[in-house]
Amino acid sequence: MGSTDSQVVFKALAALQLSADELACLQGFLAAAIQPGHCFTLIEEAAGKRACPHCASSRCHRCGQANGLQRYRCLGCGRSFNALTGTPLARLRLRTKWLPYLQCLIGSDTVRKAAQRVAVAKSTSFRWRHRFLAALRRVPPPRLSGIVEADETYHLISQKGSRNLDRPARKRGGKAARRGISREFDCILVARDRTRNTCAFVTGRGPVTAQQLTIHLLPVLARDALLVSDAARAYQAFARSTGISHEIINVQAGMRVRGAMHIQGVNGWHGRFKTWLRRFNGVASRYLNHYAGWQQVLDAAVLTTPRQWLCAAVAGR
Ligand SMILES: [Zn+2]
Repeated sequence: MGSTDSQVVFKALAALQLSADELACLQGFLAAAIQPGHCFTLIEEAAGKRACPHCASSRCHRCGQANGLQRYRCLGCGRSFNALTGTPLARLRLRTKWLPYLQCLIGSDTVRKAAQRVAVAKSTSFRWRHRFLAALRRVPPPRLSGIVEADETYHLISQKGSRNLDRPARKRGGKAARRGISREFDCILVARDRTRNTCAFVTGRGPVTAQQLTIHLLPVLARDALLVSDAARAYQAFARSTGISHEIINVQAGMRVRGAMHIQGVNGWHGRFKTWLRRFNGVASRYLNHYAGWQQVLDAAVLTTPRQWLCAAVAGR
């Protein structure tokens, strides 16, 4: 860039009223320009010394570098790998743009806005969004203890982005054909304890079942937790079969709070999720799991910087 070009850029920057997240994005750009290898160092650090992703052998030796990352060769199976092999981030390119891109995920930018900010194609922006969200889904969910509220929220099924719809297209978001919670809805089960540890699971179409509660909820629930839910039969059957203590809040009968027993923490999470989801103008059912995980990370506010997001996505822990 000639000195006149840079003067034009500096002048334009000085004239702009940049918002806080635009400034954060710019900061990411500058950091990547000053230290292009920074992202690679973070990836290597987060992956640590890993076993072979093909055969789990720990007998590996260094075998040159490729695309900025150390390559290893496994003495067990003879195959090579790097820090990202076997993760959703393997083979994604333009790694020096990952940190600025993660800032866009933290800011909940749309695919188009993130593409513009990081200067990648819209298709790349879309692919990266879902690869990073898939990677973050590998982080083990928090363990829920003490009083644990659980409740579902429902999302009208959407085939957004599909080439072949198995029903006539809905106009402007649309409505369900039948009243109540039918198989026209995807169910998102949310459980939250009073220290605000939260788990969100997409359980499938239609109302949650006791079997789905056993699959999703049981592994994250402390054995001495006290489960609080509405009067849905699935929770009662789940509590009976697993021996988990259970309190019912009969929301439909107008009961909201009984002492410390309520499900307002989890219902607050549902409200924030639905409001946040609006910016995306409808999300496809097949990606709902990613959006629930995305909101889970944002709402927990434990990972707040691109660096932390990258480390969690690479390490899956
Ligand atoms: Zn191996």
